[in-house]
Amino acid sequence: AEELLRQSDKLSVIGKLAAGIAHEIRNPLTALRGFIQLMQSTAEDKRYGEIMLAEMDRINGIVSELLMLAKPQAVKYQARDIRDIIRNVLSLLDSQAILNDIQIHTHFDKELPLISCEDNQLKQVLINLCKNAIESMPEGGDLHVEAKSLSDGTVKVRIRDTGYGIESARIPKLGEPFFTTKENGTGLGLMVSYKIIEEHGGSIKIHSEPMQGTMVEVILPALSSVPIFPLKDEALDAV
Ligand code: ADP
Ligand code: MG
Repeated sequence: AEELLRQSDKLSVIGKLAAGIAHEIRNPLTALRGFIQLMQSTAEDKRYGEIMLAEMDRINGIVSELLMLAKPQAVKYQARDIRDIIRNVLSLLDSQAILNDIQIHTHFDKELPLISCEDNQLKQVLINLCKNAIESMPEGGDLHVEAKSLSDGTVKVRIRDTGYGIESARIPKLGEPFFTTKENGTGLGLMVSYKIIEEHGGSIKIHSEPMQGTMVEVILPALSSVPIFPLKDEALDAV
């Protein structure tokens, strides 16, 4: 138990440090952003200004994702119906899907056990995964989101797109910090998602075929099969 306490102490120190650094980065960033906007008088200024603004937004995106990592000690796990969380996430992405000519299809099992999760974190994961799916279909396509109950006491959420896919050589790199193939990507979305799902006692698997599409499966333990306060691996070792 002492070891556990020490570990959570260490985590909260790192979390506080990260949150502190995030604020220190954000404040000057906001000021810089404002001044750049003021300085755009000629067409050329505008062109450079836009690049600078885009790079600043990238820094801001990275800071936001790092902040997600800094927060896990304040989490509150609750019993939830995954379908409600999926519907909520899809409603947030609706306009982005319409703009990109993407049809969203949902397929849910009629009977699904509840899961134990931290709402905002799980939403963050599903947003990251659905956004990746949408971003892989610049010419439009189909996004399928399914939730199934498996006989081994888990719930499977499957997010499938008909996008450009991932070369097999790149699959092992997924989830590595800063691995991105996008001009404005952060390469942190999957890393954060893996970490959150791991903390929920679940796992993520990615199957992809270049030019065919990608299928991401998130497996989460059903509520009846998880302790009320999910224990981490270290915690189980210490018991
Ligand atoms: P980002 O989206 O900022 O690039 P992510 O961690 O979310 O960072 O994803 C990392 C990389 O994984 C992406 O740049 C892309 O190459 C690949 N990827 C993830 N999801 C998909 C998908 N659904 N279809 C195609 N490529 C994907
Ligand atoms: Mg992403």
